[in-house]
Amino acid sequence: MKVKVAINGYGTIGKRVADAVSKQDDMEIIGVTKTKPDYVSKMTAYPLYVAVPENMGTFEEAGVKVHGTIGDLLKKADIVVDGSPGKIGAEHKPMYEKAGVKAVFEGGEKHELAGVSFNAMANYDSAIGKDFVRVVSCNTTGLCRTLYPLYRDFGIDNVKAVMIRRSADPPDSKKGPINAIEPVLKVPSHHGPDVQTVIPDLNISTMAVKVPTTIMHLHSVIVELKKEAGTEDVLNVWENTPRVKFVRGADGVKSTAQIMEMARDMGRNRSDMYEIIVWKDGVHVDGKTLYYSQAIHQESDVVPENIDCIRAMTNLEKNKLKSIEKTDKAMGIN
Ligand code: NAP
Repeated sequence: MKVKVAINGYGTIGKRVADAVSKQDDMEIIGVTKTKPDYVSKMTAYPLYVAVPENMGTFEEAGVKVHGTIGDLLKKADIVVDGSPGKIGAEHKPMYEKAGVKAVFEGGEKHELAGVSFNAMANYDSAIGKDFVRVVSCNTTGLCRTLYPLYRDFGIDNVKAVMIRRSADPPDSKKGPINAIEPVLKVPSHHGPDVQTVIPDLNISTMAVKVPTTIMHLHSVIVELKKEAGTEDVLNVWENTPRVKFVRGADGVKSTAQIMEMARDMGRNRSDMYEIIVWKDGVHVDGKTLYYSQAIHQESDVVPENIDCIRAMTNLEKNKLKSIEKTDKAMGIN
């Protein structure tokens, strides 16, 4: 029997998680919700449910066929992935509790909402059998992916990182900056403490800057390792880390633009790049100090993490490496 997954909030993340679930052989999508009968409601291939029951009339008026409301969908689900905008997931939690359905929340929610914040490599076990888990944000996922294996193999004294953030996702025409660079004035930024919800004793502080691009985030990271290591040692660790991928400036990949082109060339669904991209020729270790740059495809890096999270919460797989391998194989990540 496949685990029955509902998606409440079928936007940037919800759509991608739905497609990724459909590729797995141990889980299936039983329905997705929408608040309004727009073009997405009209073209989705998944059974459609109304997220806000009061809006049922607007779907009828628009002639968009629905299978019921979120309440009807939850009756059939084993687990729901809440892909609604940040902070709205918190409002949905009582509904999930009442329906007795497990829920995966996303990075726009607070850690306290679920009590467990998740990254598959770093803390898969903490989600096993749980009712509520939060998959951390795109930036936090990126930091956990590359820092956790260093923390495990060399020890980390401290991390300083700057997040150079895309200002909006590609379909979002309302946000900016359009022609400016905007520092995040709350310092240190929330990203460091967010990483600590997954790796509690990692000493990390971060700053952030918003730039006028929609395609990816970029992180400039400086790590003080506990053990001395060579550049090759660090590269070897990442070489053997799932969902971390190298590119080289020397091969013509000099910016996030070429990384997105590479995703298109790879024929990826929605041109997604699920891996964290590290510039191999931008990695340098000086004594115990490591410098590197990495790029994050904010729309998709959390998607395979959601799949592993579902598997852990529903007890489909207790071994993190087996789950990661299964997810990645089905999604074409190598
Ligand atoms: P999004 O693209 O705005 O999608 C959110 C979807 O939820 C929309 O389709 C929206 O409207 C729907 N929705 C709105 N109110 C709802 C409600 N009350 N009940 C159910 N659905 C509702 O947002 P997103 O970027 O996917 O973000 C979702 C979550 O993932 C947030 O926690 C965010 O912080 C996190 N996240 C986002 C990114 C990113 O870069 N985009 C990366 C990692 C994590 P319609 O139903 O009308 O379509």
